[in-house]
Amino acid sequence: MEIALRTEMHTYSGGLGVLAGDSARSAADLDLPMVFVTLVSRQGYVRQEIDARHAQVGHPDPWSPQDFATALPQMVAVSIEGRSVWVRPWLHALECPLGHVIPVLLLDTDLDQNAIEDRRITDALYGGDQAYRLKQEIVLGIGGQSVLRALGFSIEKYHLNEGHAALLTLPLLRATQQLDGGRAADPMLGYDIPGVRERCVFTTHTPVEAGFDKFDYDLVQRVLGDYVERDVLTRLAGSDRLNMTRLAMNLSGYVNGVARRHAETTRKLFPGYTIASITNGVHVHRWTHGAIARLFEQQFSNWAHEPEVLAFADQIDDGALWSAHEEAKSDLLARIAQTNRRQLRLDLPLIGYARRMTAYKRPELIFSDMGRLREIAKGQPFQIVLAGLAHPSDGGGQEAIRALGAHIDALDGVIPAAFIPGYNLDIGAALVAGCDVWLNTPQPPLEASGTSGMKAAINGALNLSVLDGWWVEGCVDGVTGWSIAGNGAEASDAGALYQKLRDVVLPLYHSDRGRWIWMMKQAISKIGPSFNSHRMMRRYVTEAYLR
Ligand SMILES: *Cc1c(COP(=O)(O)O)cnc(C)c1O
Repeated sequence: MEIALRTEMHTYSGGLGVLAGDSARSAADLDLPMVFVTLVSRQGYVRQEIDARHAQVGHPDPWSPQDFATALPQMVAVSIEGRSVWVRPWLHALECPLGHVIPVLLLDTDLDQNAIEDRRITDALYGGDQAYRLKQEIVLGIGGQSVLRALGFSIEKYHLNEGHAALLTLPLLRATQQLDGGRAADPMLGYDIPGVRERCVFTTHTPVEAGFDKFDYDLVQRVLGDYVERDVLTRLAGSDRLNMTRLAMNLSGYVNGVARRHAETTRKLFPGYTIASITNGVHVHRWTHGAIARLFEQQFSNWAHEPEVLAFADQIDDGALWSAHEEAKSDLLARIAQTNRRQLRLDLPLIGYARRMTAYKRPELIFSDMGRLREIAKGQPFQIVLAGLAHPSDGGGQEAIRALGAHIDALDGVIPAAFIPGYNLDIGAALVAGCDVWLNTPQPPLEASGTSGMKAAINGALNLSVLDGWWVEGCVDGVTGWSIAGNGAEASDAGALYQKLRDVVLPLYHSDRGRWIWMMKQAISKIGPSFNSHRMMRRYVTEAYLR
């Protein structure tokens, strides 16, 4: 549904899209024969403005496909509410400095041939109601599959990235339909389900039932019609509602979660299914700050293609690493001075937190006991920088943004802090490289993986995180970063966070710079070699695609 390719192309909302973009980049670097498909999302996700009362004001965030892509003439039609809706692909050629070009197709229904309402289907990423979302998923799954055929691709494996793409299985299923056999007795017998499973790989990114896309069958009937018999759909996608995750699970021969912990959680949600795990990774060349990249380049000229060599980053000179870090931090401070008119200090530790603003990520955890936070800052000063978008219909997320703004005000004069508006790829890159500490406080086990902490680590920013998602695998406490080892309840996790900050993290920064830099090097050299998207794509190829 989303792929983050560049800041100016508003075809993403957050981590899921960033991961898809990093996957495409690694696919290009590794010269994999792949094509990526997403929606053109002409109106983008949300352009975030923060008003005087600290509230998010969300605006449409349009962009111009013609500036970054070429409209292709091969159009296809899908049937929506009984109308033919035409879908046109735009081709964005993703050129990677390290390698090859990967085609990314952006599907667009804004065509003269279409009815006004249908022209808007590919406008708003995650916008609109259930019917709108279902139409988008028809364009993505069914339209996407037709577009690939119209363009002459012969696809051996389809990788469904999250349930949003699951309708892709339906044209594959229909193509196997036989009109004889036991069909009259049981419509399932008319389809070659193992044949479809052979061709599909599914990655789930959501660890809770409530997060899965689900559509009422009456809505499906009205919008999609009799594309596949209801009897068959209910058996493949759930009896009460069409559950996109269940559909993808049942029609994919390989299913995985995005971290070991997430795969375990998924196995509990889907007992009886085989769920593999391929932990996410980030594209190191894309996310490494220029100053740090220059250091890597000097020592291991092949680091971008072979991130494994970052295992030797523990040999980097302390002074050189610290100066490179200060360069990245200065860039971030300059950005904050510009956007927030607030000058933070280079010589004080900077704690960063940037996430999608939503309840389970618990953005307010560090502010849950303001007295205690002030007390800690008295003896050991530090600063905080925050960013993040809330989905327009996520009231909890919007409320959190307002509360964060109020906390920043309340800490004025005690803890310098800023909320950078309009979190995007660009701001994300500046944050993960420029902070000293990267904070992560989700409610376990709800963070499927998380990837911003990996970006931080390869830049030498130290993670301070609840043990969830990828951090269960990446954390060596006191070596690659720190765990926040509460029991998962808010008060317990907050207590563990304050204790770690006061007794371990801040004392180390303020009085043992040598050990701090040693940890930076441990983070780069232990996390860089494995939590990168080259390793991730190589695993997808050998374990899922060539299966
Ligand atoms: C990396 C990234 C994310 C995902 O980070 P999480 O750790 O999963 O929250 C989201 N948005 C942007 C802009 C990013 O760069």
